[in-house]
Amino acid sequence: MAKVLVVGGAGYIGSHVAKLLQKKGHQVSVFDDLSTGFRELAKYGDFHLGSILDPQEVRAVIKQVAPDAVLHFAARAAVGESVENPSLYYEVNVAGSYQLFSALRELAPKAKIIFSSTCAVYGAVEGRLNETLPLNPVNPYGRTKKMIEEMLADFSHAYDTRYVSLRYFNASGADAEGEIGEMHNPETHLIPRLLENALDPSFEMKIFGDKHATPDGSCIRDYIHVEDLADAHLRAMEYLLNGGKSDVFNLGTAKGSSVFEVLKLVESTSERKLKYQIVGARAGDPPALIADSSKIERVLGWKPKNDLKSIVHSAWSWIQKRPR
Ligand code: UDP
Repeated sequence: MAKVLVVGGAGYIGSHVAKLLQKKGHQVSVFDDLSTGFRELAKYGDFHLGSILDPQEVRAVIKQVAPDAVLHFAARAAVGESVENPSLYYEVNVAGSYQLFSALRELAPKAKIIFSSTCAVYGAVEGRLNETLPLNPVNPYGRTKKMIEEMLADFSHAYDTRYVSLRYFNASGADAEGEIGEMHNPETHLIPRLLENALDPSFEMKIFGDKHATPDGSCIRDYIHVEDLADAHLRAMEYLLNGGKSDVFNLGTAKGSSVFEVLKLVESTSERKLKYQIVGARAGDPPALIADSSKIERVLGWKPKNDLKSIVHSAWSWIQKRPR
């Protein structure tokens, strides 16, 4: 059993990971400032209200929990918003991560770190993306995550900080038991927005571009079920606690789906016809992002168990009953 601090555990992904860790017998503590997270998603383990931007609050929770492992989800994570308001991203993501890592270095230097990175660090690259590619992010969100990965690599080199960075592709879907699921305010992600439109036809749905360099002209993404994502965090944590070296892994399914393919699946799952408008491409949106996931399969023995159909099904049942 490990003492695990889940930083940003009241968010969409952090809450699913906290649930799985608790189920597996780990002692979970969630630290979140609720700036984008929801108290009702932080149901697993102890809850500590506080911000990574406040060095005193960060230090207090680390002292109290004395974690063996820290899972760091706390971040702003919307590409469009990062283009409009980059300052927020450099502050919360880069300065916040720095506060967290430097407090850990001082107060819990042996704690293993699992960091939520993103495929946005690669930028606009064709073909399946593997971890050895150069990182050329095309939006501020991706740039902040790249900087944090570099900070961790430098800390690891100089101070022997042990970490795993997981480069998420498109996290989606909801808890199979229906206790938690995706909640963002405002919601910017494709699948919950399409489902919202299926529930409420007055909800305006825009498709960002049908002239991308892809077979149907809409963007292609690699959608990964949040429960498969949670399983990868558990494996990464166990790997580090068992002496594994610092490393970086893609976390995607290696299968791409276009926006129009997702839209059709939402229509068939919800048995409703969607009304949408095709608008111009969103700034900073690469046409296609698909993982080469062979490294995480090889090193951590991870494989996705869910496909896009089960993602959309679980998200559809969640959205119909989630708190509003
Ligand atoms: N998208 C869209 N309309 C929306 C939201 C998203 O067409 O209302 C597209 C977006 O351009 C991207 C894909 O859906 O190609 C996935 O976007 P999302 O914001 O879910 O994730 P991202 O890939 O930006 O992390």
